[in-house]
Amino acid sequence: MSKKRIAIVGYGGMGAWHAKKLLISDVAEVAGIWDIDEAKREAAKEKGIFVYDSFESLIADETVDVVTIATPNEWHMPMAVAAMEAGKNVISEKPVTMSSEDLLKMIDASNRTGKLFTVHQNRRWDADFLAVKELYASGELGDIFQIESRVQGSHGIPGDWRGQKEHGGGMILDWGVHLIDQILQMVPDKKIERIWCRCDHITNYEVDDGFKLDIFFEKELTAHIEVGTSHFINLPRWYVNGTNGSAVIEDWNKPLRVVECTEWDPGNVVPVVTAAGLTKTMAPRDSSTIAEHEVELPKSDVHNFYRNVCAAIDGKETQLIKHGELQRVMKVMEAAFRSDETGLPVEIDDKIC
Ligand code: NAD
Repeated sequence: MSKKRIAIVGYGGMGAWHAKKLLISDVAEVAGIWDIDEAKREAAKEKGIFVYDSFESLIADETVDVVTIATPNEWHMPMAVAAMEAGKNVISEKPVTMSSEDLLKMIDASNRTGKLFTVHQNRRWDADFLAVKELYASGELGDIFQIESRVQGSHGIPGDWRGQKEHGGGMILDWGVHLIDQILQMVPDKKIERIWCRCDHITNYEVDDGFKLDIFFEKELTAHIEVGTSHFINLPRWYVNGTNGSAVIEDWNKPLRVVECTEWDPGNVVPVVTAAGLTKTMAPRDSSTIAEHEVELPKSDVHNFYRNVCAAIDGKETQLIKHGELQRVMKVMEAAFRSDETGLPVEIDDKIC
């Protein structure tokens, strides 16, 4: 199979990341880039990468198989539609776009032209996520009723387009889209009943610079997603509770720690002494009634995203990141914004896909 030729629009942080990976890819190669910023075009030339003289000339290049769009978010929809209409397969960076309405225009263009259209949900390959997903699927913790997924920094929201609404800034669209996608991948068997969200505006009033989002699934499962940018002490990346035990991943690249209950009724609980008196309810477990182990995070290769796209173009695999999944994540993000505006939980008409 010959390598697919990928042209990249936007050669900033993420466009350069794509190019770096594609320069050593086993399935694809870089056809060239286009960026409106001359300094970025010069940086690409210095790396020996071909630079187109416009977006139009990039999508007109007949040797290009795929266009990867790595511009600020407001460009994803018009560029993806134009590229598909020019006969190109398209990878958009996340978030796919900023509304369900725009997403539908992209999906329509894919259906109309027969071109592959997908989104770089690269955090489906994060090792910490894969470890928790495997734990969920194993049933080891019994019925899981609580999943908490958090990312926290202390540098505020970046001062570039990410802080501006017109460009699709804000943390729900930036990190939320990854963390919501991960939860929906992890929980393949339960419908969402409602969403509650509260956004933070600690360093930025135009867009959310953090948020707390609860996804209430059917059958007593709540997933809590939290993104913060003004946090100087971090809570664990993952925290999971089931009827048979608990699990935690303290930080990126730390192992998964699992504590399971081996004897539910331990008999005589020794109370713990608190300032205001004794409590048995909150007393720690006797170590003879629990079993604890650690699981190393699995190995994973994020370039499998491009391997799948290339195989899907040739009809050899099904595209991993599907349109219905993108629509479901978008529905959750829109419900989160509505909940933040109204201060109320929002019910959604969910379809598992
Ligand atoms: P960035 O600001 O570093 O780069 C954006 C680039 O796009 C800049 O070089 C800018 O000059 C260029 N650009 C802007 N408008 C353009 C236009 N009309 N035509 C051509 N070029 C244009 O931003 P970034 O961090 O690289 O983010 C780009 C995209 O990648 C965003 O959608 C972002 O959400 C996404 N992203 C994804 C991940 C991930 O993990 N998947 C990580 C970071 C960013």
